[in-house]
Amino acid sequence: MSKAVANKPHAVCIPYPEQGHTLPLLQLAKLLHSTGFHITFVIPEFYHDHIRQSHGPNVVKDLSDFQFRTIPDGLPPSERKASPDVPTLCDSTRRNFFRPFKELVAGLNSSMEVPSVTCIIADGVLSFAIEAAEELGIPEIQFWTASACSFMGYLHFDELVRREILPFKADETFLCDGTLETSVDWIPGMRNIRLRDLPSFIRTTNIDDAMFDFMGSETRKCMRSSAIIFNTFDELEHDVLEAISAKFPQIYTIGPLSILSRVATETHLKPLRLSVWKEDQQCLPWLDTQAPKSVVYVSFGCLTTMSDQKLREFAWGLAESKQPFLWVLRPDIALGESAILPEDFLEETKNRGFLTSWCPQEQVLAHPSVGAFLTHCGWNSTLEGICGGVPLICWPFFADQQPNTRYACVNWGIGMELDDDVKRTDIIAILKEVMEGDKG
Ligand code: UDP
Repeated sequence: MSKAVANKPHAVCIPYPEQGHTLPLLQLAKLLHSTGFHITFVIPEFYHDHIRQSHGPNVVKDLSDFQFRTIPDGLPPSERKASPDVPTLCDSTRRNFFRPFKELVAGLNSSMEVPSVTCIIADGVLSFAIEAAEELGIPEIQFWTASACSFMGYLHFDELVRREILPFKADETFLCDGTLETSVDWIPGMRNIRLRDLPSFIRTTNIDDAMFDFMGSETRKCMRSSAIIFNTFDELEHDVLEAISAKFPQIYTIGPLSILSRVATETHLKPLRLSVWKEDQQCLPWLDTQAPKSVVYVSFGCLTTMSDQKLREFAWGLAESKQPFLWVLRPDIALGESAILPEDFLEETKNRGFLTSWCPQEQVLAHPSVGAFLTHCGWNSTLEGICGGVPLICWPFFADQQPNTRYACVNWGIGMELDDDVKRTDIIAILKEVMEGDKG
């Protein structure tokens, strides 16, 4: 190794292994690489296997100064699929990742082939990396891939228990008796919030619930790291960021990463996407044939699922709205047998609907034909919608999507929300308003 290489700063990056977390950390890693960093990007074996299955064996290629390493994930064989069950995966990261990760970093540090590790950048829900870094004496930074408002919500999970708001009643009547409408005015920096707008894991009758516990404690542990980087920007979440920095001053915003990394990335790293599904590029020439701002783009991200019946309500709402649409239907989106849509729907919409299982979403949202984005409000999707200047129609599923929806609809005024129990008539009405009405 030459002296110049040995002196390079070396960041070891480890994402939570889900697409919505991996892509922004990859973008950050590319940015650091473009400023002279040596990068080691760590992914668990199951994720690596899925990328190779979708894109071929050579997709994850090492460059001399941007290298990939895998660690065992400890997942049971039944969960080694593209989107493992979320609580199982979270549990596995806590139980199984610490040792192989620490050994990997220690090995890199003693290797004569790469520069010594100067810092670890780990997803904000992987606190085992803080522990590994402490034991190895290496600085560690947490990267929060979601919104700052969701971070603040998670940070107050234990306060909900202290205030005896949680646990909710065991008979689950809280879901429809108005309890969730209760205003929450005691979280610093958060405005216009009700209980229903906090991350969905509070909707539990058991405070030992796996996800309530995982997200609450991982978020609190972020404060033990050297710093936290947020994939957001100050103008968007100013108040909440200020409130976070009053508790933990070492915070940095770097979003929206999709735009920054597009500008800064060197050509040979540009195609590197680490997407679990293969993108169908055919929708782009189809969008070229559509009128400006006429198409409704519909996508619910990597993890949202719904009943067959809801899927049909979306389908008929889109059909009866008469708007052209581009709909991403992951094969595993429907909870029933499969995402099979009725023949008469396909017949009725064949001239103005484009169905695909995965698309290049950022390019779609930047396309001039797209006029609205029907989304689950995952944070990447929300930011990509904002960057594309496309109004959002929000149907949050879980986790941070509830606070993101509230902020989009009320605090930022860029979205309208659909009821959880959505009907086709709601979809027709909201599309009319967003595409043609004053609010839109
Ligand atoms: N995405 C994509 N193609 C699709 C649908 C989604 O590339 O057809 C990408 C999207 O651009 C975003 C990510 O998948 O970067 C989804 O992340 P998000 O935080 O919105 O939601 P999650 O999937 O984590 O719930």
